[in-house]
Amino acid sequence: MSDKPTAAFVLSLIGGIFILLGGVALAVGFSFLFGGIGAIFGIVGVIFGLIVILGSVMLYQKPQSHTMWGVIILILSIIAFPSAWGFGIGSLLAFIGAILALVYKPSMGPAMMPSQPMGAMPMGSMGSGQAMGSMGMTCKNCGASIPAGSTRCPSCGATV
Ligand SMILES: [Zn+2]
Repeated sequence: MSDKPTAAFVLSLIGGIFILLGGVALAVGFSFLFGGIGAIFGIVGVIFGLIVILGSVMLYQKPQSHTMWGVIILILSIIAFPSAWGFGIGSLLAFIGAILALVYKPSMGPAMMPSQPMGAMPMGSMGSGQAMGSMGMTCKNCGASIPAGSTRCPSCGATV
């Protein structure tokens, strides 16, 4: 699955979970130390973590909008870094994930379709008769290349 920003998704997701857990820990700890104000500080971290997690999932679901979510995760990870949210490591992972999301280039359009040699495809799982006729298909929804014989887009799941 080379047309998904998998590394960006995984790093941002783990980073978001760390930020979320850090926010929960701070909300509990600070509410004992500083009362309500401390709890709010932690809760903001929880919200940041949730947005980063949402962003990483959206990044994976809709690779086309990688720039928007990359920017959102980048900004949140930078804001979260000086605080203890995510214990530092969460912000760092989300930051790297956001950079990967920003430099990610979705494979779309027939011009960028990789030319796969037929010999490399595993035989047996698909009917060998219909493989030839439907080569060169691209998804109308996201532009990803669809393997011959497939009725659904491997990238976005749209029916073809
Ligand atoms: Zn598609």
